Amino acid sequence: MPIDPTLPYDAGNIFAKILRGEIPSNAVYEDDYAFAFEDINPQAEVHTLVIPKGAYVSWDDFSAKAGDAEIAGFVRAIGEVARAKGLVEPGYRLMANIGAHGYQEVPHLHVHIFGGQPLGPMICKR
Ligand code: 5GP
Repeated sequence: MPIDPTLPYDAGNIFAKILRGEIPSNAVYEDDYAFAFEDINPQAEVHTLVIPKGAYVSWDDFSAKAGDAEIAGFVRAIGEVARAKGLVEPGYRLMANIGAHGYQEVPHLHVHIFGGQPLGPMICKR
């Protein structure tokens, strides 16, 4: 079920547990601002999730409330992960789902990195 991105941050969400090391993940990158790990149910040859270390429900919450250093650190981490995975030359796709129409399921901001194959149209046609 999609989450309501206007609700307060829930520290019990699954990605918060992954960040705290309470649930295992296949980590690929970590720095002061971000953590990246492989999606448990990959939708492409490469499907990696990058999350900020701060407690932000969604892109909306993050873009409104995060500090400049957090925003810069998170954006740079996404680029770093994509470069480390060799995705720049073949190309890749970033996606952040927000709320019901975006079908966001986990209420901790995450950017999906998809790659490793041609990715087709940007969104499904209705
Ligand atoms: P959303 O639909 O919120 O944009 O994406 C949530 C993503 O988190 C999905 O692609 C889903 O497969 C992934 N996911 C959900 N639970 C877990 C988990 O416990 N571990 C990992 N690695 N990925 C998860």
